[in-house]
Amino acid sequence: MLFDTHVHMNATQFIEDRDEVIQRAFANGVQYMVVVGFDRETIPLAIEIAEQYDTIYAAVGWHPVDAIDMTDEDLAWIEELSHHPKVVAIGEMGLDYHWDKSPKDVQKEVFRKQIQLAKKVNMPIIIHNREATEDILQILEEEGASEVGGIMHCYNDSVHYVQQCLDMNFYISLGGPVTFKNAPLPKEVAVEVPIDRLLVETDAPYLAPHPNRGKRNEPSYVKLVAEKIAELRGISLEELSKKTTENAFKLFQINR
Ligand SMILES: [Zn+2]
Repeated sequence: MLFDTHVHMNATQFIEDRDEVIQRAFANGVQYMVVVGFDRETIPLAIEIAEQYDTIYAAVGWHPVDAIDMTDEDLAWIEELSHHPKVVAIGEMGLDYHWDKSPKDVQKEVFRKQIQLAKKVNMPIIIHNREATEDILQILEEEGASEVGGIMHCYNDSVHYVQQCLDMNFYISLGGPVTFKNAPLPKEVAVEVPIDRLLVETDAPYLAPHPNRGKRNEPSYVKLVAEKIAELRGISLEELSKKTTENAFKLFQINR
């Protein structure tokens, strides 16, 4: 049984065959998932999907690339939605220095506001980080994010920063890149992270794991991610699945 902790079944790529893709995940042992909303369009859809399936949950937040679009009303709306029974986390939020649609200072401000909101409603946060690890860690520290903890989603930096994340009560989630031939960093991380702080994800429809790299990703492929990590750690797929699913239940406070 696997838990895909980060999927975008609310993405336009799944408009045609969403239920088919979800049923295929269930049939492949991917029983649980969190659909992540990140703007005005994807947030309501994430909740709608979570309402339709017993074992699917939602996260609500604002993506850093679009930070410049977020209003105070949006933030109040996210707070209101955080009380929905299927919402289990705030995010994704964070910093993305790869794209420059939103200036860094605006991204930082929107990131801080969402951490403060998560602390107010006492929910874990999901961090999107692209080329911004040091600034993210600094803001998490300054805002006291360890109070709620959360997930470093699709962690893609060196093992060097892992301990700092763990110290602030964060879980490390690995996705498709751990299976890529030319990606040594996530493979090192996969071995270093204590098993009780590890999560798996797809980030579908993005970042499809090998051998589907470049194609549309889907939650059933989280098994490929889990298989690779189990192989790297020298444990069985069953054990890796059991532990990472238990971790997700604990973090999201899901009682099953
Ligand atoms: Zn995402």
